[in-house]
This record gives sequence, structure tokens and C-alpha cells, in this order.
Amino acid sequence: MIYLSMKKTLKKLPESIKLVLFDLDDTLYDEADFVKSGLGAVAEYLAVSHGLDQSAAYKAMIKHFKKQGRGKIFNQTLSEFKINPTAVLIKKLVSLYRRHRPEIKVYQGVRPLLERLKSSGLKLALVTDTNWRVQARKLNALGIAKYFDRIIFTDKLNLKKPDLKIYRQIFKKFMVRPLEVLCVGDDPTCDFIGARTAGCQTIRIRQGRLMDLRLGPAREADYAVKSIKELSDFLRREKILCE
Ligand SMILES: [Mg+2]
Repeated sequence: MIYLSMKKTLKKLPESIKLVLFDLDDTLYDEADFVKSGLGAVAEYLAVSHGLDQSAAYKAMIKHFKKQGRGKIFNQTLSEFKINPTAVLIKKLVSLYRRHRPEIKVYQGVRPLLERLKSSGLKLALVTDTNWRVQARKLNALGIAKYFDRIIFTDKLNLKKPDLKIYRQIFKKFMVRPLEVLCVGDDPTCDFIGARTAGCQTIRIRQGRLMDLRLGPAREADYAVKSIKELSDFLRREKILCE
């Protein structure tokens, strides 16, 4: 457990937490698995449509992903295999990537944690940004939608974290005060600054691709843990989870 050095904001979690608000990507499952599974679907397509060696195409895409993230993977891979990266082909590959049936699993301990939170009488919500259809497919594949009282696809609302409107809508919907809401996420660019400004409690799980990202106190969470297990231990210690 790491208590961040933010003495002014460091406070004991109130036992009156009523709602836990989860982020999805890299908080409840490893987003890199989604990327790998999507690139696998694209490699399979390129093998059939352009006669590429499927495994070589996949390895090339993974290499470009590791080097510089998702931005130009398809352009670079096609160029590497001497295929003209036309706008039409890129669009097709992006669509395949987004629409594929993802092979992803929740992090170890997620299901028991969500079950324990529910049986402890807490309400659960999930807030996720970006293309809502893609996010819905991920949730389907993970099989965890049933645990949440509400799933908020910010994309459908033309919003994205850290917009305060998201949190205000949640307070209203669940009839809770900001301090009764605990937000759990992994991304210091957007998961905590809005939630904290809105008055919620925040916990960062340092896992996934942003685990080492440090953006300074203003964007950090009130608390940080390294895994779902540490999160569960923390919530038990703070008496948010019943024994
Ligand atoms: Mg995330």
C-alpha cells in the first residue's frame, strides 16, 4: 500500500461510502490483451486478403504497438510488407480491430471483489470513455456487466472523463453525496482530477500501460494500490467491505 504524499488531501475513507465507481480499461482487465486480440483478428484478415504470413504480420503489428502505441500500427505494418496503406484499407482494418470478438479476461480477483462489494450493500457503477460499441463488446466478453447498477458510456453522452457533468449525473442518479462515492481507476490523465474536484474519494490501481505514469499531485488519486488484491485488502481494512 502506498499512501501518496499529499498531506492536505490525505484523509481516512469515510465508512459511509455508498457507491463505488470503476473505470474499465486497465482497471478491471489488461487492455494490452484487447489490443493483442484485435491485432490477431487483423493479421488473420491480412493473411486471407493479401496472402501475408499471419504470424509475421501479427509480430510486426505487436512490434509497432510496443514501439509507439496504437497510432500508426496498420500504416507501418502494411508498408513493411510492401502493401499500399490506402485510406480504404486502413479503414477496413480499424473496423475489423474494433468489431472483433475480444479474447479478454478480468484481472485476478475482480469477480470476487465485485461480489463482495455487492454483498456489503454497496452500489456499483462503471464509467468508460471512447467508442461505446467497442467498450460494450469488451464488457460482454468479460461477463461483468451484471455486477453494475449502472454502466455509463460517456461517448453516448458526448462527454469524457474528467468532465464534472459525468459525476454530477451519477450523484443525482444514485442520490449520493460526493464524499460517499469512491472512484477506482488507473489513468492519472483523467480518472482522478474530475472525480476529486467533484468531491469524490479516489484510488489509483497502478497496473496496465500507465502504471509508471506520474503527472504530479493535482492529477493523482488520494490513495494508490498495485493490484486488485491490494485494493480488496484496503477496502476490507477501511471497513468498506464486510468481513
Ligand atoms: Mg483505464
